Amino acid sequence: MTLPSTYPDRNCSLARTLEVVGERWTLLIVRDAFYGVRRFGDLATQLGIPRAVLTNRLKLLVREGVLTRDDDGAGTVEYLLTDKGTALWPIVRAMMAWGDAFYSPAGAKRDLRHDRDGGLLDHDGRCEQCGAAAPVPEIRIEPGPGYQAGDSSLDPVSAMLSGSRRLLEPIAIPSTRQADERGGGTDAGR
Ligand SMILES: [Zn+2]
Repeated sequence: MTLPSTYPDRNCSLARTLEVVGERWTLLIVRDAFYGVRRFGDLATQLGIPRAVLTNRLKLLVREGVLTRDDDGAGTVEYLLTDKGTALWPIVRAMMAWGDAFYSPAGAKRDLRHDRDGGLLDHDGRCEQCGAAAPVPEIRIEPGPGYQAGDSSLDPVSAMLSGSRRLLEPIAIPSTRQADERGGGTDAGR
């Protein structure tokens, strides 16, 4: 038996938000989208998520206008954050900061920096150098003091994400083509 995905409290926007991003895996998919992971196969590889579940979550996120599904007609399908999806960044950032504060005694798993001046961002997303609230495309993410280096068996997507990179900068691993999406019988169409 599955739990209903809607909440009875129609007067709480948190309940409405959770109907979109509150299911297991969904915020991790959104986080990966911020990290520049755009393809079904790369998301599946990085998250280790069952393909049917990934299909399901992507469909919901596309339907809700959080992601767009871009098909170039030549077999490459990419999922990109919309403005509405990008507006989820403060939620993702705050949840990562909360996890760092209470579950990462060695410090932040990942540091966020303002790419323009290298300033560290505080938990509210403000740059310690210039004081600005850094917009998403100007944020660089890199391993922090609490980051545990992976072993050499890291999948190629995770290996790329373990370095320093700007948010939204696309990653594409040639070996995980879109054939994965079709081959798995998991078309995540609109
Ligand atoms: Zn700055």
